Amino acid sequence: MGIGSEWYRKTLLTITGMAMVEKLSTSYGKRLAGRFIAGGELSEAMDATVRLQRQGIMATLDHLGEGIRRLDEAEGYRDRYLELLDGISARKLSCGVSLKPTQMGLALDEAACYENIREVVKRARRSGTFVCIDMENTPYTEATIRMARRLHKEGLTNAGTVLQAYLRRTGDDASLLLGEKVTVRLVKGAYKEPAEAAFQKKAEVLESFKRLIAQHFEHGAYTVIASHDDEIIQWVKRYAESHAIPKTAFEFQMLYGLREKEQARLAEDGYRIRCYIPYGSMWYPYFTRRLAEKPANLLLVLRHMSLRPMK
Ligand SMILES: Cc1cc2nc3c(=O)[nH]c(=O)nc-3n(C[C@H](O)[C@H](O)[C@H](O)COP(=O)(O)OP(=O)(O)OC[C@H]3O[C@@H](n4cnc5c(N)ncnc54)[C@H](O)[C@@H]3O)c2cc1C
Repeated sequence: MGIGSEWYRKTLLTITGMAMVEKLSTSYGKRLAGRFIAGGELSEAMDATVRLQRQGIMATLDHLGEGIRRLDEAEGYRDRYLELLDGISARKLSCGVSLKPTQMGLALDEAACYENIREVVKRARRSGTFVCIDMENTPYTEATIRMARRLHKEGLTNAGTVLQAYLRRTGDDASLLLGEKVTVRLVKGAYKEPAEAAFQKKAEVLESFKRLIAQHFEHGAYTVIASHDDEIIQWVKRYAESHAIPKTAFEFQMLYGLREKEQARLAEDGYRIRCYIPYGSMWYPYFTRRLAEKPANLLLVLRHMSLRPMK
């Protein structure tokens, strides 16, 4: 994220936010997004899970969707997650699930959103499945943390959330959640945020990320590091080795379709590695965040498009 790459990220997020660009892209079809998404159907995501598990890579499944406009849509997504959990039990898969708070209605009604998520977490508990409440942009940070803590207080400890290293507030949030033993996934952060809320420079984000990881290790918490960044991955390996932290005390996470060779290599080297597998028809916002992260991802998509026949 030097000046050039930060400019790229912001410009791409702005362009892809335009309605006309969204319409053009979605009508171009899922071929465009196929590089990063397991498929439109649950069965395709489950097949991907089994394929990865054969390579020693764990999975978390995400039924794509966010920013819904009516509460009945949120209930629909909740029901899709209940089906997903029943599918996980039926196929005896050992994997997690991830969901978005705005998909469950957070922008409309926090109480209704909480009830939707709670129902999913309760169903997940039956099969010992962990539910990660993804973190979205800053209007939802406070409420997302509040909901994760409330679930824990109710004894639903198979739920956790995400903390973003780019946010200035995250050190305090991490202390709070560590104190309450809420499991979190640590990430850099994927949204466009103002300088008052978020570090803008790559070096600051990296420093904050490393500080958070160290804070989790020092606390003895199971530490989840979601990043494709070699600097972070190598730093974690060195830190764990020099502090005699066993490989079972932490896991790496990466997104479906990214750094596949590195995912396999980490598994071969005995590290815990989990792949985040998105599926479903609402792929556009997820897809644009991936393109914004890295110009090379745009090239990956273009190459993928030229290799696969149009459906
Ligand atoms: C499992 C998972 C879950 C996530 N959940 C959330 C969430 O809930 N909320 C949220 O805001 N964000 C989430 N994110 C996204 C995250 O915040 C970042 O936007 C995203 O991961 C990009 O940052 P990065 O650390 O992966 O590295 P980047 O900043 O994308 O890459 C930095 C460097 O990594 C190396 N690198 C990256 N890709 C490659 C490659 N293909 N080949 C070789 N080197 C490469 C390069 O050195 C590159 O310069 C999630 C990410 C993951 C992996």
